[in-house]
Amino acid sequence: MHQSSEAHFELQEDPHFWTNHNVQVLVRVRPMSNSDATGHSSYGTCLRQDSAHTITWIGQPQTRFTFDHVAGEFITQENLFRVAGLPMVENCMAGYNSSMFAYGQTGSGKTHTMLGDIDNLAYRPSEQRGMTPRIFEYMFSRILAEEQEREHEQLKYVCKCSFLEIYNEQITDLLEPTSTNLQIREDLKTGVYVENLREVEVTCVQDVVQLLVQGAANRKVAATNMNRESSRSHSVFACSVQSTWESNSLTNVRYGRLNLVDLAGSERQRTSGAEGDRLKEAANINKSLSTLGLVIMILVDVANGKQRHVPYRDSKLTFLLQDSLGGNSKTTVIATVSPSNSNAAETLSTLKFAQRAKFIRNNAVINEDASGDIAALQREIQQLKEEV
Ligand code: ADP
Ligand code: MG
Repeated sequence: MHQSSEAHFELQEDPHFWTNHNVQVLVRVRPMSNSDATGHSSYGTCLRQDSAHTITWIGQPQTRFTFDHVAGEFITQENLFRVAGLPMVENCMAGYNSSMFAYGQTGSGKTHTMLGDIDNLAYRPSEQRGMTPRIFEYMFSRILAEEQEREHEQLKYVCKCSFLEIYNEQITDLLEPTSTNLQIREDLKTGVYVENLREVEVTCVQDVVQLLVQGAANRKVAATNMNRESSRSHSVFACSVQSTWESNSLTNVRYGRLNLVDLAGSERQRTSGAEGDRLKEAANINKSLSTLGLVIMILVDVANGKQRHVPYRDSKLTFLLQDSLGGNSKTTVIATVSPSNSNAAETLSTLKFAQRAKFIRNNAVINEDASGDIAALQREIQQLKEEV
Protein backbone atom coordinates (compact mmCIF):
# COMPACT_ATOMS: atom_id res chain seq x y z
CA MET A 1 0.00 0.00 0.00
CA HIS A 2 1.42 3.35 -0.88
CA GLN A 3 0.87 6.27 1.42
CA SER A 4 -1.35 8.40 -0.77
CA SER A 5 -4.18 5.89 -0.59
CA GLU A 6 -4.37 5.88 3.21
CA ALA A 7 -6.10 9.18 3.73
CA HIS A 8 -9.29 10.23 2.03
CA PHE A 9 -10.55 13.79 2.38
CA GLU A 10 -13.77 14.91 0.73
CA LEU A 11 -13.68 18.32 -0.92
CA GLN A 12 -15.88 20.90 0.76
CA GLU A 13 -17.50 23.83 -0.99
CA ASP A 14 -15.86 27.13 -0.13
CA PRO A 15 -18.26 29.48 1.72
CA HIS A 16 -16.06 32.48 0.89
CA PHE A 17 -16.01 31.81 -2.81
CA TRP A 18 -18.18 34.78 -3.71
CA THR A 19 -16.18 37.36 -1.80
CA ASN A 20 -12.69 36.08 -2.51
CA HIS A 21 -10.75 38.08 -5.08
CA ASN A 22 -7.75 35.80 -5.20
CA VAL A 23 -7.32 33.09 -7.74
CA GLN A 24 -8.74 29.82 -6.43
CA VAL A 25 -6.12 27.10 -6.51
CA LEU A 26 -6.87 23.43 -6.40
CA VAL A 27 -4.31 20.64 -6.58
CA ARG A 28 -5.39 17.27 -7.90
CA VAL A 29 -3.23 14.20 -7.37
CA ARG A 30 -3.75 11.48 -9.92
CA PRO A 31 -3.64 7.80 -8.88
CA MET A 32 -0.40 5.83 -9.16
CA SER A 33 -0.21 4.04 -12.47
CA ASN A 34 1.55 0.77 -13.18
CA SER A 35 4.05 2.50 -15.41
CA ASP A 36 5.13 4.72 -12.50
CA ALA A 37 6.98 1.71 -11.13
CA THR A 38 8.76 0.81 -14.36
CA GLY A 39 12.47 1.37 -14.18
CA HIS A 40 12.43 2.47 -10.58
CA SER A 41 13.68 0.41 -7.69
CA SER A 42 11.34 2.17 -5.29
CA TYR A 43 7.68 2.12 -6.15
CA GLY A 44 6.98 5.03 -3.89
CA THR A 45 5.18 8.28 -3.60
CA CYS A 46 6.59 11.77 -3.22
CA LEU A 47 3.37 13.15 -1.73
CA ARG A 48 1.42 12.87 1.47
CA GLN A 49 -1.95 14.53 1.80
CA ASP A 50 -2.45 15.95 5.29
CA SER A 51 -5.92 17.48 5.02
CA ALA A 52 -8.42 18.74 2.45
CA HIS A 53 -6.18 21.81 2.10
CA THR A 54 -2.62 20.70 2.71
CA ILE A 55 -0.18 18.42 1.00
CA THR A 56 3.45 17.57 1.78
CA TRP A 57 6.12 16.90 -0.78
CA ILE A 58 8.31 14.28 0.85
CA GLY A 59 11.68 15.04 -0.64
CA GLN A 60 14.72 17.02 0.36
CA PRO A 61 13.75 19.32 1.95
CA GLN A 62 10.29 18.11 2.93
CA THR A 63 7.88 20.91 1.97
CA ARG A 64 4.30 21.52 3.04
CA PHE A 65 1.86 23.42 0.82
CA THR A 66 -1.57 24.89 1.55
CA PHE A 67 -4.19 25.43 -1.16
CA ASP A 68 -7.89 26.18 -1.37
CA HIS A 69 -8.42 22.49 -2.05
CA VAL A 70 -6.32 19.41 -2.34
CA ALA A 71 -8.03 16.59 -4.23
CA GLY A 72 -6.59 13.16 -3.62
CA GLU A 73 -6.77 10.23 -5.98
CA PHE A 74 -10.22 9.15 -4.75
CA ILE A 75 -11.93 12.44 -5.47
CA THR A 76 -14.62 11.89 -8.06
CA GLN A 77 -15.19 13.97 -11.16
CA GLU A 78 -18.56 14.94 -9.68
CA ASN A 79 -17.07 16.15 -6.38
CA LEU A 80 -14.47 18.17 -8.25
CA PHE A 81 -17.15 19.76 -10.42
CA ARG A 82 -19.19 20.70 -7.34
CA VAL A 83 -16.35 22.65 -5.73
CA ALA A 84 -14.68 24.16 -8.78
CA GLY A 85 -17.05 24.05 -11.77
CA LEU A 86 -20.44 24.89 -10.32
CA PRO A 87 -19.38 28.28 -8.89
CA MET A 88 -17.94 29.16 -12.31
CA VAL A 89 -21.31 28.62 -13.94
CA GLU A 90 -23.05 30.71 -11.29
CA ASN A 91 -20.47 33.47 -11.77
CA CYS A 92 -20.81 33.41 -15.51
CA MET A 93 -24.60 33.58 -15.40
CA ALA A 94 -24.34 36.46 -12.95
CA GLY A 95 -22.33 38.38 -15.56
CA TYR A 96 -18.76 37.71 -14.42
CA ASN A 97 -16.00 36.44 -16.64
CA SER A 98 -14.54 33.26 -15.27
CA SER A 99 -11.63 31.09 -16.29
CA MET A 100 -10.22 27.74 -15.36
CA PHE A 101 -6.68 26.64 -16.17
CA ALA A 102 -5.37 23.10 -15.92
CA TYR A 103 -1.62 23.17 -15.30
CA GLY A 104 0.72 20.22 -14.88
CA GLN A 105 3.18 17.90 -16.53
CA THR A 106 2.08 15.63 -19.37
CA GLY A 107 0.26 12.58 -18.04
CA SER A 108 -0.71 14.20 -14.72
CA GLY A 109 -4.43 14.41 -15.53
CA LYS A 110 -5.15 17.80 -17.12
CA THR A 111 -7.32 16.44 -19.92
CA HIS A 112 -8.86 13.83 -17.63
CA THR A 113 -9.90 16.72 -15.37
CA MET A 114 -11.06 19.21 -17.99
CA LEU A 115 -12.64 16.83 -20.49
CA GLY A 116 -12.57 13.29 -19.11
CA ASP A 117 -14.53 10.60 -20.80
CA ILE A 118 -16.96 12.01 -23.36
CA ASP A 119 -18.98 9.64 -25.43
CA ASN A 120 -19.08 11.15 -28.87
CA LEU A 121 -21.85 9.54 -30.86
CA ALA A 122 -24.91 9.66 -28.70
CA TYR A 123 -24.04 11.58 -25.58
CA ARG A 124 -24.27 9.00 -22.83
CA PRO A 125 -22.98 10.59 -19.67
CA SER A 126 -20.13 8.59 -18.16
CA GLU A 127 -19.17 8.85 -14.48
CA GLN A 128 -15.69 9.69 -15.76
CA ARG A 129 -16.81 12.71 -17.77
CA GLY A 130 -14.87 15.75 -16.69
CA MET A 131 -15.34 19.39 -15.83
CA THR A 132 -16.37 20.77 -19.23
CA PRO A 133 -19.35 18.50 -19.98
CA ARG A 134 -20.52 18.81 -16.37
CA ILE A 135 -20.29 22.61 -16.51
CA PHE A 136 -22.57 22.72 -19.54
CA GLU A 137 -25.03 20.16 -18.19
CA TYR A 138 -25.43 22.33 -15.13
CA MET A 139 -25.50 25.57 -17.10
CA PHE A 140 -28.29 24.50 -19.43
CA SER A 141 -30.39 23.18 -16.55
CA ARG A 142 -29.96 26.53 -14.76
CA ILE A 143 -30.76 28.48 -17.92
CA LEU A 144 -33.94 26.53 -18.51
CA ALA A 145 -35.11 27.00 -14.92
CA GLU A 146 -34.34 30.71 -14.86
CA GLU A 147 -35.93 31.45 -18.22
CA GLN A 148 -39.12 29.81 -16.99
CA GLU A 149 -39.05 31.56 -13.66
CA ARG A 150 -38.51 34.97 -15.23
CA GLU A 151 -40.68 34.56 -18.29
CA HIS A 152 -42.57 37.76 -17.37
CA GLU A 153 -39.31 39.68 -17.92
CA GLN A 154 -38.74 37.86 -21.22
CA LEU A 155 -35.39 36.63 -19.91
CA LYS A 156 -33.41 34.97 -22.66
CA TYR A 157 -29.93 33.45 -22.72
CA VAL A 158 -27.71 33.09 -25.78
CA CYS A 159 -24.55 30.93 -25.51
CA LYS A 160 -21.83 30.84 -28.13
CA CYS A 161 -18.75 28.64 -28.06
CA SER A 162 -15.36 28.70 -29.71
CA PHE A 163 -12.45 26.31 -29.49
CA LEU A 164 -8.87 27.20 -30.34
CA GLU A 165 -5.38 25.86 -30.01
CA ILE A 166 -2.12 27.73 -29.48
CA TYR A 167 0.89 25.89 -30.79
CA ASN A 168 4.25 27.39 -31.53
CA GLU A 169 2.73 30.85 -30.90
CA GLN A 170 0.17 30.30 -33.66
CA ILE A 171 -3.55 30.21 -33.11
CA THR A 172 -5.60 27.61 -34.96
CA ASP A 173 -9.40 27.43 -34.96
CA LEU A 174 -10.26 23.89 -33.86
CA LEU A 175 -13.78 24.29 -35.25
CA GLU A 176 -12.46 25.52 -38.61
CA PRO A 177 -9.04 23.90 -38.98
CA THR A 178 -8.25 25.67 -42.24
CA SER A 179 -8.15 28.88 -40.21
CA THR A 180 -4.60 28.97 -38.96
CA ASN A 181 -2.42 31.76 -37.67
CA LEU A 182 -5.35 33.81 -36.42
CA GLN A 183 -4.59 37.18 -34.88
CA ILE A 184 -5.50 38.61 -31.50
CA ARG A 185 -7.14 42.03 -31.64
CA GLU A 186 -8.21 44.44 -28.98
CA ASP A 187 -11.43 46.40 -28.95
CA LEU A 188 -11.81 49.26 -26.51
CA LYS A 189 -15.32 48.25 -25.59
CA THR A 190 -15.38 44.50 -25.88
CA GLY A 191 -11.77 43.77 -24.99
CA VAL A 192 -9.40 41.20 -26.43
CA TYR A 193 -10.68 38.77 -29.07
CA VAL A 194 -9.42 36.48 -31.82
CA GLU A 195 -10.17 37.79 -35.27
CA ASN A 196 -12.18 35.45 -37.55
CA LEU A 197 -12.56 32.79 -34.88
CA ARG A 198 -15.65 30.70 -35.46
CA GLU A 199 -18.35 31.02 -32.81
CA VAL A 200 -21.14 28.49 -32.69
CA GLU A 201 -24.40 28.96 -30.85
CA VAL A 202 -25.20 26.09 -28.50
CA THR A 203 -28.51 25.29 -26.87
CA CYS A 204 -27.89 22.00 -25.09
CA VAL A 205 -25.04 19.92 -23.71
CA GLN A 206 -25.11 17.64 -26.78
CA ASP A 207 -24.24 20.67 -28.95
CA VAL A 208 -21.25 21.36 -26.71
CA VAL A 209 -20.05 17.77 -26.65
CA GLN A 210 -20.23 17.68 -30.42
CA LEU A 211 -17.96 20.73 -30.63
CA LEU A 212 -15.56 19.20 -28.11
CA VAL A 213 -15.34 15.99 -30.10
CA GLN A 214 -14.96 17.83 -33.40
CA GLY A 215 -12.23 20.04 -31.93
CA ALA A 216 -10.38 17.10 -30.41
CA ALA A 217 -10.44 15.28 -33.76
CA ASN A 218 -9.14 18.35 -35.61
CA ARG A 219 -6.42 18.75 -33.01
CA LYS A 220 -5.32 15.19 -33.57
CA VAL A 221 -5.26 15.56 -37.36
CA ALA A 222 -3.24 18.77 -37.12
CA ALA A 223 -0.80 17.11 -34.73
CA THR A 224 -0.33 14.11 -37.04
CA ASN A 225 -0.05 16.12 -40.25
CA MET A 226 2.49 18.49 -38.84
CA ASN A 227 4.33 15.87 -36.84
CA ARG A 228 3.88 17.61 -33.56
CA GLU A 229 2.94 16.59 -30.08
CA SER A 230 -0.44 17.72 -28.80
CA SER A 231 1.00 17.76 -25.28
CA ARG A 232 2.84 20.88 -26.38
CA SER A 233 -0.19 22.89 -27.36
CA HIS A 234 -2.65 24.88 -25.29
CA SER A 235 -6.36 24.57 -25.94
CA VAL A 236 -8.96 27.14 -25.00
CA PHE A 237 -12.66 26.27 -25.06
CA ALA A 238 -14.61 29.46 -24.53
CA CYS A 239 -18.28 30.23 -24.11
CA SER A 240 -19.90 33.63 -24.06
CA VAL A 241 -23.16 33.77 -22.18
CA GLN A 242 -25.41 36.72 -22.83
CA SER A 243 -28.71 37.30 -21.11
CA THR A 244 -31.29 39.92 -21.95
CA TRP A 245 -34.43 40.87 -20.09
CA GLU A 246 -36.95 43.68 -19.94
CA SER A 247 -37.60 45.86 -16.94
CA ASN A 248 -39.21 49.31 -16.78
CA SER A 249 -39.35 49.26 -20.60
CA LEU A 250 -35.55 48.99 -20.76
CA THR A 251 -33.63 46.13 -22.24
CA ASN A 252 -30.97 44.89 -19.84
CA VAL A 253 -27.98 42.96 -21.04
CA ARG A 254 -25.56 40.87 -19.05
CA TYR A 255 -22.55 39.21 -20.47
CA GLY A 256 -20.27 36.60 -18.94
CA ARG A 257 -17.44 34.73 -20.50
CA LEU A 258 -16.17 31.29 -19.58
CA ASN A 259 -12.67 30.13 -20.56
CA LEU A 260 -11.65 26.51 -20.07
CA VAL A 261 -7.95 26.10 -20.68
CA ASP A 262 -6.01 22.86 -21.01
CA LEU A 263 -2.39 24.01 -20.94
CA ALA A 264 0.59 22.39 -22.61
CA GLY A 265 2.59 19.99 -20.45
CA SER A 266 4.60 21.98 -17.93
CA GLU A 267 7.62 19.64 -17.96
CA ARG A 268 10.86 21.27 -18.85
CA GLN A 269 11.20 21.26 -22.62
CA ARG A 270 14.36 19.49 -23.54
CA THR A 271 15.98 21.36 -26.38
CA SER A 272 19.13 19.29 -26.56
CA GLY A 273 19.60 17.85 -30.01
CA ALA A 274 16.97 20.16 -31.52
CA GLU A 275 18.04 22.15 -34.54
CA GLY A 276 16.50 24.66 -36.91
CA ASP A 277 12.71 24.59 -36.86
CA ARG A 278 12.67 22.20 -33.95
CA LEU A 279 14.76 24.53 -31.85
CA LYS A 280 12.63 27.53 -32.76
CA GLU A 281 9.56 25.47 -32.01
CA ALA A 282 10.88 24.50 -28.59
CA ALA A 283 11.61 28.14 -27.78
CA ASN A 284 8.18 29.26 -28.96
CA ILE A 285 6.32 26.49 -27.22
CA ASN A 286 8.03 27.55 -24.08
CA LYS A 287 7.03 31.09 -24.77
CA SER A 288 3.34 30.98 -23.85
CA LEU A 289 3.99 28.81 -20.81
CA SER A 290 7.10 30.65 -19.67
CA THR A 291 5.37 34.01 -20.13
CA LEU A 292 2.47 32.67 -18.08
CA GLY A 293 4.95 31.80 -15.32
CA LEU A 294 6.59 35.21 -15.59
CA VAL A 295 3.28 37.08 -15.59
CA ILE A 296 2.26 35.21 -12.46
CA MET A 297 5.54 36.02 -10.73
CA ILE A 298 5.14 39.70 -11.55
CA LEU A 299 1.52 39.65 -10.38
CA VAL A 300 2.73 38.36 -7.02
CA ASP A 301 4.81 41.54 -6.76
CA VAL A 302 1.83 43.64 -7.86
CA ALA A 303 -0.30 41.98 -5.17
CA ASN A 304 2.38 43.02 -2.70
CA GLY A 305 1.95 46.64 -3.71
CA LYS A 306 4.82 46.98 -6.18
CA GLN A 307 4.37 48.87 -9.42
CA ARG A 308 5.44 46.65 -12.26
CA HIS A 309 4.83 46.29 -15.95
CA VAL A 310 3.05 43.00 -16.68
CA PRO A 311 4.20 41.60 -20.05
CA TYR A 312 0.85 40.16 -21.12
CA ARG A 313 1.58 40.84 -24.77
CA ASP A 314 4.75 38.81 -24.85
CA SER A 315 2.83 35.62 -25.62
CA LYS A 316 -0.41 34.63 -27.32
CA LEU A 317 -1.72 32.82 -24.27
CA THR A 318 -1.20 35.67 -21.81
CA PHE A 319 -2.40 38.30 -24.30
CA LEU A 320 -5.59 36.38 -24.99
CA LEU A 321 -6.28 35.58 -21.35
CA GLN A 322 -4.97 38.71 -19.69
CA ASP A 323 -8.33 39.42 -18.09
CA SER A 324 -8.12 36.07 -16.31
CA LEU A 325 -4.77 37.01 -14.80
CA GLY A 326 -5.15 39.97 -12.52
CA GLY A 327 -8.09 41.49 -14.38
CA ASN A 328 -11.84 41.33 -14.77
CA SER A 329 -12.34 37.64 -14.09
CA LYS A 330 -12.85 35.02 -11.44
CA THR A 331 -10.14 32.48 -12.01
CA THR A 332 -9.45 28.95 -10.87
CA VAL A 333 -6.21 27.07 -11.38
CA ILE A 334 -6.26 23.30 -11.17
CA ALA A 335 -2.73 22.01 -10.79
CA THR A 336 -2.50 18.32 -11.59
CA VAL A 337 0.35 16.27 -10.14
CA SER A 338 1.69 12.76 -10.23
CA PRO A 339 2.32 11.15 -6.82
CA SER A 340 5.13 8.99 -8.15
CA ASN A 341 8.72 9.29 -6.97
CA SER A 342 9.76 9.13 -10.58
CA ASN A 343 8.01 12.48 -11.16
CA ALA A 344 9.03 14.10 -7.87
CA ALA A 345 10.92 17.03 -9.43
CA GLU A 346 8.10 17.99 -11.83
CA THR A 347 5.54 17.56 -9.06
CA LEU A 348 7.46 19.98 -6.82
CA SER A 349 7.74 22.46 -9.65
CA THR A 350 3.95 22.30 -10.26
CA LEU A 351 3.21 22.77 -6.54
CA LYS A 352 5.44 25.85 -6.49
CA PHE A 353 3.71 27.28 -9.56
CA ALA A 354 0.32 26.69 -7.90
CA GLN A 355 1.50 28.41 -4.74
CA ARG A 356 2.50 31.52 -6.68
CA ALA A 357 -0.80 31.57 -8.58
CA LYS A 358 -2.58 31.82 -5.23
CA PHE A 359 -1.25 35.36 -4.74
CA ILE A 360 -2.91 36.79 -7.84
CA ARG A 361 -5.73 39.15 -7.10
CA ASN A 362 -8.39 39.76 -9.69
CA ASN A 363 -11.00 42.43 -9.84
CA ALA A 364 -14.09 40.93 -11.38
CA VAL A 365 -17.06 43.15 -12.12
CA ILE A 366 -20.48 42.28 -13.45
CA ASN A 367 -20.66 43.02 -17.18
CA GLU A 368 -24.03 44.66 -17.38
CA ASP A 369 -25.65 47.31 -19.47
CA ALA A 370 -28.98 48.58 -18.26
CA SER A 371 -29.87 50.87 -21.09
CA GLY A 372 -28.56 49.39 -24.27
CA ASP A 373 -27.83 46.19 -25.98
CA ILE A 374 -24.24 44.98 -26.10
CA ALA A 375 -24.87 42.87 -29.17
CA ALA A 376 -26.42 45.82 -30.99
CA LEU A 377 -23.46 47.98 -30.03
CA GLN A 378 -21.10 45.31 -31.27
CA ARG A 379 -22.95 45.14 -34.58
CA GLU A 380 -22.79 48.90 -34.82
CA ILE A 381 -19.04 48.87 -34.21
CA GLN A 382 -18.60 46.12 -36.78
CA GLN A 383 -20.63 48.11 -39.29
CA LEU A 384 -18.54 51.22 -38.71
CA LYS A 385 -15.39 49.17 -39.17
CA GLU A 386 -16.64 47.77 -42.45
CA GLU A 387 -17.47 51.26 -43.68
CA VAL A 388 -13.97 52.55 -42.86
P1 ADP B 1 -2.49 15.14 -19.35
O1 ADP B 1 -3.66 15.71 -20.09
O2 ADP B 1 -2.10 15.97 -18.16
O3 ADP B 1 -1.33 14.84 -20.23
P2 ADP B 1 -4.23 12.87 -19.01
O4 ADP B 1 -5.43 13.57 -18.50
O5 ADP B 1 -4.25 12.47 -20.43
O6 ADP B 1 -2.93 13.73 -18.71
O7 ADP B 1 -3.96 11.62 -18.06
C1 ADP B 1 -3.03 10.59 -18.36
C2 ADP B 1 -3.67 9.25 -18.01
O8 ADP B 1 -3.92 9.13 -16.60
C3 ADP B 1 -4.99 9.02 -18.71
O9 ADP B 1 -5.09 7.68 -19.07
C4 ADP B 1 -6.01 9.37 -17.62
O10 ADP B 1 -7.21 8.70 -17.84
C5 ADP B 1 -5.30 8.93 -16.35
N1 ADP B 1 -5.70 9.78 -15.22
C6 ADP B 1 -5.26 11.02 -14.98
N2 ADP B 1 -5.80 11.52 -13.85
C7 ADP B 1 -6.62 10.58 -13.37
C8 ADP B 1 -7.48 10.50 -12.22
N3 ADP B 1 -7.59 11.52 -11.34
N4 ADP B 1 -8.17 9.36 -12.05
C9 ADP B 1 -8.06 8.34 -12.92
N5 ADP B 1 -7.28 8.35 -14.02
C10 ADP B 1 -6.56 9.46 -14.24
MG1 MG C 1 -3.76 16.28 -22.11
